[in-house]
Amino acid sequence: LRRNPGEAEFHQAVREVFDSLGPVLDKNPQYADAAVLQRICEPERQIIFRVPWVDDAGQVNINRGFRVEFNSALGPFKGGLRFHPSVYLGIVKFLGFEQVFKNSLTGMPIGGGKGGSDFDPRGKSNGEVMRFCQSFMTELYRHIGEYTDVPAGDIGVGGREIGYLFGQYKRITNRYESGVLTGKGISWGGSLVRTEATGFGTVFFAQHMLETRNGGLEGKRVVVSGSGNVAIYAMQKAQQLGGHVVACSDSSGYVLDEAGIDVELVRQIKEIERGRIADYAARRPGSSFVEGGRVWSVGAEVALPCATQNELDVDDARALIESGLKAVAEGANMPTTPEAVALFQEAGVLFAPGKAANAGGVATSALEMQQNASRDAWTFEHTEERLAGIMESIHDRCATTADEYGQPGNYVAGANIAGFTKVADAMLALGVI
Ligand code: NDP
Repeated sequence: LRRNPGEAEFHQAVREVFDSLGPVLDKNPQYADAAVLQRICEPERQIIFRVPWVDDAGQVNINRGFRVEFNSALGPFKGGLRFHPSVYLGIVKFLGFEQVFKNSLTGMPIGGGKGGSDFDPRGKSNGEVMRFCQSFMTELYRHIGEYTDVPAGDIGVGGREIGYLFGQYKRITNRYESGVLTGKGISWGGSLVRTEATGFGTVFFAQHMLETRNGGLEGKRVVVSGSGNVAIYAMQKAQQLGGHVVACSDSSGYVLDEAGIDVELVRQIKEIERGRIADYAARRPGSSFVEGGRVWSVGAEVALPCATQNELDVDDARALIESGLKAVAEGANMPTTPEAVALFQEAGVLFAPGKAANAGGVATSALEMQQNASRDAWTFEHTEERLAGIMESIHDRCATTADEYGQPGNYVAGANIAGFTKVADAMLALGVI
């Protein structure tokens, strides 16, 4: 705490992992002897830089850029970039720390990192976003590379931003190094299914959890928060598996559509028109928009928080449990507050933490890296099959580890312990570095 003052989200993320590790340390004293815990919460490298750019009115703007290279014991640093006004070092470190364990759970050879900026892409023109991305990359390029650190998207960073970032990297380095960024467009080195992967993977995970209780998504009432990349494809896959998705949101409120959310309309409004979720209600008869409302208040059997950190609190949890909630799978990173997680677990609700449930995104990024390295491009079906297999194995590894440590059904403990031990063993093998 003293070394990282004021970084509340980072403290929360560390505490949440360390809370699960008591039994692991009892069984494995070698971790304490080699100070693995102390080392694992100190990033290998943290970069903070100035990002100057000129807006359409000719004004000079200054934002702050970050890249936290957290842990490379398993492979090159890997993790997204977030552009949102709330970004500061504590957010980037919480995300980077989570990423280390998530990437370990995927079983792929990738370390953990995260980055971003307090730049707000909302309301900016394409030209402004491009100039910002070019300026951001003009500093970042010297720190990244296929074998070093491979950024991707996150909140506020989608295909458009990755394109501008990759273009500037290529221009500065004179290298068509496809493997330096993931989330690229299909015609310039991207992978099919990457866009859908986080949302799809979250739903695959929810389905596996429900199957442990002889159920599935078929016929269940599903509520999703957010209406960005993760939310859109979580809704699409939930519907494909027979779920009845009735609500989604953005930071201004939520829409309720008891007839079932028209995902294609959400996609049109958010991905193509870059509009607000309120526009959905204006265009879809029978639906309503609740300004400033909390999406969880509509009640669900399956809740998929896919917006941002700490967006589902203890009051939301209580309301959801009363409405007959059976499962929660976190598409976002740390969307559920610790008190709400405890309440779900006490109530016997199946609960999948983000580092397991949303790992399909980064796993498919690793598949994109594989395709880039072999100059290959896989079909949608093949890539989705790989994603489905990875999500099943993450689910099973979390469940088996929870059993092994005497906490059956506790996916939080399972994910933390399984994610941690793989990284810790690699750190031991590599010596004190
Ligand atoms: P997007 O920027 O595409 O979408 C974010 C969505 O969440 C938007 O609808 C946004 O609304 C909404 N949102 C943001 N803040 C709030 C808030 N305070 N209250 C309600 N809604 C809010 O981001 P992604 O979909 O990519 O990311 C969503 C989450 O998933 C993040 O936690 C991210 O870290 C996590 N994640 C993403 C991965 C990916 O592959 N993209 C991989 C793994 C995790 P508005 O437009 O109003 O801001």
